[in-house]
Amino acid sequence: MNKKTVRDVDVRGKKALVRVDFNVPQAKTGEITDDSRIRAALPTIRYLLDNGAAAILMSHLGRPKGKTAPEFSLRRVASRLEELLSVPVRLAPAVRGPEVARMVREVGPGQVLMLENTRFEPGEEKNDPTLAKELASYGDVFVNDAFGAAHRAHATTAGIAAHIPAVAGLLMQKEIEALGGILHAPERPFVAIIGGAKIAEKIQVLESLTERVDTLLIGGGMSNTFMASLGRPMANTPVESDKFDEARRIVAAAASRGVTLELPTDMVCADAFSETANVRTINGPVPDGWMALDIGPESQENFSRYIRKAATVFWNGPVGVFEMAPFRGGTDAVARAVAECGGMTVVGGGDSLAAVEQAGVADRIKHLSTGGGASLEFMEGKTLPGVAALLDK
Ligand code: ADP
Ligand code: MG
Repeated sequence: MNKKTVRDVDVRGKKALVRVDFNVPQAKTGEITDDSRIRAALPTIRYLLDNGAAAILMSHLGRPKGKTAPEFSLRRVASRLEELLSVPVRLAPAVRGPEVARMVREVGPGQVLMLENTRFEPGEEKNDPTLAKELASYGDVFVNDAFGAAHRAHATTAGIAAHIPAVAGLLMQKEIEALGGILHAPERPFVAIIGGAKIAEKIQVLESLTERVDTLLIGGGMSNTFMASLGRPMANTPVESDKFDEARRIVAAAASRGVTLELPTDMVCADAFSETANVRTINGPVPDGWMALDIGPESQENFSRYIRKAATVFWNGPVGVFEMAPFRGGTDAVARAVAECGGMTVVGGGDSLAAVEQAGVADRIKHLSTGGGASLEFMEGKTLPGVAALLDK
């Protein structure tokens, strides 16, 4: 990797200002329902503490839109981190200001201070230079470990880097190395599986992938738009008719570059968008009154054959409505095939990670990316502002 990491700088006796991605899912009661993002940041935090630094943590949580809102407080995150780390975690009452500055002065080597939700500050998402400068004054070195927020140019993901040395945390490093590896030097054959509800948010990654992969497997709601754009009757299946031209363009781009593009041949269809709907597998035009909600057994087998033989796999987006039992078979099959693949396998996206967990194969995937939007933009070949801001080696 051509960016400096926390291992390339001397952190002893320093105050490290660490941007983490603690934007965890919470139940309505505020309970943290999945703490993987907190766990993912532990190696960097432990490294800093073990090497004599003080860790001052910054994260956003949800969308408080520039205003202090108690329901978006990092209080529960701080106490979960304290349990996981077995080190006291003090939570500052705000993101900045005299009281925060006092707590920052007091924090010593081996200790942890967490600032409040960075999005309580209106300057955060605007990348306000005044906010970035004030926050930068709290630390000697900026460690960015929030890969999941690296596609945003915010004060705490990019702005601070203008004032103090900026390096990658260990999670950020792992993400850049895994995704960078398959983007720039993939072993072949390289197979990508793209699914999810809508084509709209994934057109750019699809276009980028047609320049990089050997095989593109398309499933999920978006494959219905592809099939409809190619003239297949889809009956009651929701399709994005304003995206037909784009879908056809991607099909043509794949063909002109010699990329094999596979769509489902059979689909699990239902007579309503419901777990209790009538269900049947359809191998031709979708009949009136029916909608396609998953890929069928023949398509599962076809996709799995490509995936198992691949040397590199990138997967984003479930290939069916995996949240409902009758329509999770396709996604489970894809997850198992990715787990069985002996090559480099990378899965990104919130729902995709949930699907891999649900299929029980998470520990057999080589790299689970913590970034949804960030991993997609990375695979589009874009420069992420949070990565660009780090010091070069
Ligand atoms: P990720 O979070 O991994 O990036 P997305 O958010 O893009 O994935 O897509 C996940 C959503 O796509 C799921 O909620 C799933 O129900 C939906 N989906 C997948 N296939 C279909 C389909 N055939 N029809 C409707 N929705 C679908
Ligand atoms: Mg999602």
